[in-house]
Amino acid sequence: MNQIIQLSILPLGMINCFLIKGNTKHVLVDTGVPSSEAKIIKQLHQHKIKLEDIGLIVISHGHIDHFGSAKRLKDILKVPVLIHDLDKKALETGESMLETLNPNHKIWDVFLKPRLARGKTSPCLPDIVLIGDEEFDLKNYGINGKVIHSPGHTPGSLSVILENGSAIIMDLASSGILLGGIAFNSRVKHPPFHDNLQQLKNSINHILSLNTQTFYLGHGNPISRKLLIKYKERFLE
Ligand SMILES: [Zn+2]
Ligand SMILES: [Zn+2]
Repeated sequence: MNQIIQLSILPLGMINCFLIKGNTKHVLVDTGVPSSEAKIIKQLHQHKIKLEDIGLIVISHGHIDHFGSAKRLKDILKVPVLIHDLDKKALETGESMLETLNPNHKIWDVFLKPRLARGKTSPCLPDIVLIGDEEFDLKNYGINGKVIHSPGHTPGSLSVILENGSAIIMDLASSGILLGGIAFNSRVKHPPFHDNLQQLKNSINHILSLNTQTFYLGHGNPISRKLLIKYKERFLE
């Protein structure tokens, strides 16, 4: 049984990344905003994870709150970095892809987009690039699961699907209020931006077809299958 550990970049689930424990090696999914590496390493130590047991960094998508510390963590951990072809430009330039920031509410255009536009981090070259709907099997790490292409939030968004029914879907949905889980964790809502709502709906339908039960998010605490279906029905149909 593979276990997912939620690592907090900001408290109360406002920004998360995750570690999947593998029987051979562990996999880190996302790296937080720039300069999050100390915070991540401290929490890994608290969970008794040895850094040398981490074998891969997966970047879920090209927004700076997810790949901000990719270069530093790649240098510290000395492991390959995996991303999808359609989002790799962000990682390689160190800047979010602004053309994918379609606001779900106009206030985000005014308050959040300019901040994301100014955000810059060290460029990081990926080692493994998924093309099209190519999947990446995690069995070499002793993890029963795979990385799949789940576009919609951004063109190259990736999700991790485990055979035990857990899925890391990052920004395909969010929970709680503000950017995360300050309160109302049972409330599911749009994150500030989605690139393409039709693609997003198709991705969520695909993920729901894979026998998934619990969904781990980039912003907010995990949600149930029932809540993800509710999100889809309320916001995407
Ligand atoms: Zn995002
Ligand atoms: Zn995000």
